[in-house]
Amino acid sequence: MTSSADNPAGTRSRVLIVDDSPDVHRLLRARLKQEEIEIVSAESGRAGLDEVAKQRPSLILLDLDMPGIDGFEFLRTLKEDSATHHIPVVILSAMSNPQDKVAAFDLGAHDFVTKPFELTELRVRIRAALRMNALLQMLSQRAQIDGLTGLWNRAYFDQRVQDEVARVQRHPGPLSIAFIDADHFKSINDTFGHPAGDAVLQGIGRTLQRSIRQTDIACRYGGEEFVLIMPATPPADAQALCDRIRTTIEALVWPRHPERKVTVSMGVAGSSIGAGLTAPAWVEAADQCVYSAKKSGRNRVVMNDLSAGKAAASTEPAPLRKAG
Ligand SMILES: [Mg+2]
Repeated sequence: MTSSADNPAGTRSRVLIVDDSPDVHRLLRARLKQEEIEIVSAESGRAGLDEVAKQRPSLILLDLDMPGIDGFEFLRTLKEDSATHHIPVVILSAMSNPQDKVAAFDLGAHDFVTKPFELTELRVRIRAALRMNALLQMLSQRAQIDGLTGLWNRAYFDQRVQDEVARVQRHPGPLSIAFIDADHFKSINDTFGHPAGDAVLQGIGRTLQRSIRQTDIACRYGGEEFVLIMPATPPADAQALCDRIRTTIEALVWPRHPERKVTVSMGVAGSSIGAGLTAPAWVEAADQCVYSAKKSGRNRVVMNDLSAGKAAASTEPAPLRKAG
């Protein structure tokens, strides 16, 4: 599982200082030298917002009183953007009246340190904010992982497939999506019990994880359905990969029911050029292929090349690749 954290373990946390006073930047850089952090400086609210977009800091130290975009407006803009609202902000300000503090906290500030600041206190507050940020990121990543299989979950898939389809619409290139559905899964549960069914789902999950490339994304879609997003992969290559996965799963021996094999039906919808389809239409096309695979006998891969002529508008699958 790749980490989506801004700062994976082993790298220094990036801290952005936004203050119109060069003296404050000099002072903070000198005083925070010993900390395990990388400091980025911006001397205006505007420059600060640009740095946020470029650098994705783990923490922002923010002055309130600045010409142009002041600290309050900076905070409002930061918290309104879903890409940046999670970044903790520690206010560093000479303004110490209660109204300013209340306004800053209301806008989403994490902490407030009054200038002139006491260095030891500032350090512990920075560490506390970074610790909270790391925990929140870990939680948000866990919320995207399927508990049974350890693959990405449906919520993550829904978001990621939107991103990947949008990417090929902007920069046309190959993309393939595959659905994987365990055959006769209900009868495995009914015959051998739910723990056996869970073991099958885990085994399929492990096989997917081991078979895909680093850039592929394996998700549990729900129930006995899985889905692969394969960026930069033309449909024929995706089909070949899926067929390897299919034969690998077919060959697995299950400790709880060694006499009973498990097979999967797979549907691949892909395009070499980035078809002019929305994410839901793309997912629907892949789902249609699974349906065709089921109807035509299961344990097979059905592929629809969305870039092949007018096939982009059709969900008619390409000729079947008969299972071996
Ligand atoms: Mg100032």
